[in-house]
Amino acid sequence: MKDLTRALKRRVELSDSSDWTGAPVPTTPRAAAPAPAAAPRATARPATNPATAATSSSARRKAEVFAELSEKIKTCRACPLGAARIQAVPGVGSHDAQVMFIGEGPGFDEDHKGEPFIGRSGKLLDKIMESIGLSRENVYIANIVKCHPMVDPSDPEKRGNDRPPSPEEIEACRGWLDTQIRTIAPRFLVTLGAVPARVLLGDSTPISKIRGVWRDYEPGAGAAKVRLLPTFHPAALLRNPDLKRDVWADMKNLREEMSKS
Ligand code: SF4
Repeated sequence: MKDLTRALKRRVELSDSSDWTGAPVPTTPRAAAPAPAAAPRATARPATNPATAATSSSARRKAEVFAELSEKIKTCRACPLGAARIQAVPGVGSHDAQVMFIGEGPGFDEDHKGEPFIGRSGKLLDKIMESIGLSRENVYIANIVKCHPMVDPSDPEKRGNDRPPSPEEIEACRGWLDTQIRTIAPRFLVTLGAVPARVLLGDSTPISKIRGVWRDYEPGAGAAKVRLLPTFHPAALLRNPDLKRDVWADMKNLREEMSKS
């Protein structure tokens, strides 16, 4: 029995990171053991923020704010991206999320579906979140800009037509994200890649140097500071799998902080 317990423990330690990090998984314990509930996830605090998951009136208020926000974003023309997009991508997830993941901007797939992170990068982000017990249902995922920045705005049907948002587009769109952060009031922000870290922290230090180090973010309007963890964008991991090790370290760091009261 002790051997089985040890084997299960070993399996959990390795398997919760194995799918996307490429960490080796021992086949014997995996084959021999019945699938247990993943221990690290069981010990983590619920992903929904207890402080804000609160009352139904609070939930109603948040739902109303987000419904109104979503409508405004979908009709926004505050920058040129609004004229070229197929559809705006406000965000997805829980309004009571303990964690918000923030990317740069929608790409081709997101522009077509109206949901953030749904291409290859999005599938990898799903796996990354899953490895620490998170999912699209219990976090909130948003971008710095809500519409697809295109190299050639006349052809939204062309793949590979992506570009980073300009400073003017970022400035025009910034208010939507801060309203989302203030309304959700998450405990943690995780920025994905160089652009969201630079925009939210006002720090142009390369992402390779600032990832994994906790910072504070002030969402404005008197809202409380939120702890912010920069990490690499999933697209960077697809280009350079060596970065998976760093992101896995960052996710364990996040999981550890989430487990604290
Ligand atoms: S990117 Fe932002 S500011 Fe620009 S049109 Fe879309 S929602 Fe409006």
